Amino acid sequence: MKNTRGSLVRPDPLPDSASRPVVTPLSPSVVYASETPDMLDDQYEGRLHGYTYSREGHPNADVVAARMDAMEGASGGVMTGSGMAAVSAVLMGLLNAGDHIVGGNQLYGRSMRLMNEDLPRLGVATTLADPGDAAAIEAALRPETRMLLVEVVSNPTLRVADIEGLARLCRERDILLAVDNTFTTPRAFRPFDHGADIVIHSLTKLLAGHSDVMLGYAVARDPALTEKLRVFAVTTGLTPSPFDCWLAERGMLSFGLRFDRAQQTAAILADHLATLPGVKRVIYPMRPDHPDHDRANRLLQGQGCNMVSFELTGGRGAANAFTRAADGLSFAPTLGDVGTTLSHPASSSHRSMSAADRAANGLHEGFFRVSVGLEDPEQLRTIFSDAVAAASDVGRDA
Ligand SMILES: *Cc1c(COP(=O)(O)O)cnc(C)c1O
Repeated sequence: MKNTRGSLVRPDPLPDSASRPVVTPLSPSVVYASETPDMLDDQYEGRLHGYTYSREGHPNADVVAARMDAMEGASGGVMTGSGMAAVSAVLMGLLNAGDHIVGGNQLYGRSMRLMNEDLPRLGVATTLADPGDAAAIEAALRPETRMLLVEVVSNPTLRVADIEGLARLCRERDILLAVDNTFTTPRAFRPFDHGADIVIHSLTKLLAGHSDVMLGYAVARDPALTEKLRVFAVTTGLTPSPFDCWLAERGMLSFGLRFDRAQQTAAILADHLATLPGVKRVIYPMRPDHPDHDRANRLLQGQGCNMVSFELTGGRGAANAFTRAADGLSFAPTLGDVGTTLSHPASSSHRSMSAADRAANGLHEGFFRVSVGLEDPEQLRTIFSDAVAAASDVGRDA
């Protein structure tokens, strides 16, 4: 046989190796070649497992999905190119014109926008209500309500949803309970163990953990619904790139350690902030003064997660002085990074809310949300002490 290798435009196959790589190989191939039309038939009919076209699926997505499934007690979960792609797949892939959905009234900003702008445009009616109050959610239900979308811990006020009450309500009324588990992660909360029907994640945050990749995941308890999600995601091109999945898998290898460390430090930081004279209030679910402390203890089993919110005594001037003095911390609107990040809702996530509405939600100019990272706790205490002191000086002058 003539050796044509080396002269064709497609690359040669990788050399065989009896030993295996310890790192998942990156598979950027958009297409996968089958041997014959018969073989392709077998693949499409599910008699043979094989990839065809990477929008439909690829090995790097599958290894991350399997890891997510194991953590959530799920199977067959769908990877998406971002957390919002996962939210979109659930809302647009499962709801029909004429349906009604109820959402938590403090959902992630873009989820809120889908509820307020896009779903109504597509003929899906929406209502927002407080997920901490099952009676308020019940009052929002209609005969055509098909889904309830909530987050376990609200952003940025860190209130805890009454998941038990909501799950009971959804079961009685045959409504799908969709839980965005991004803040809590499966390490603190597994929605399927508490009656949820659908789980959504932005892996961009804690799970991938290094602020270098956007990725999402969605899965339903009912395999038929998961299949609908998959078909919608593939059709609309919400599926992710191999490189993003590869990066996320690498980040997830250390997720457990990172999460445990970050939430230990968050508890220390929350207690420390509460001792500082320039701090008006501290919000952390594991503190006894948290309004949902008992519920948080029950649902999160003593895990407070890595988010701490607090309010400085001063206004915008104090907030400016605080971020300027918070040496080494990023003032950046994200969460779950290896480094501690600060978010100021009044100037970012909640800037489009009227000042009066912000005030009604307690989101004054001095309000900050902290995503605690992996710094040494002592170092963080010092940075926050100094920055709060700098903010207090401005507060006194003002
Ligand atoms: C960030 C986030 C999203 C969106 O995820 P992206 O990966 O940024 O698209 C959805 N829900 C929650 C709770 C989030 O924090």
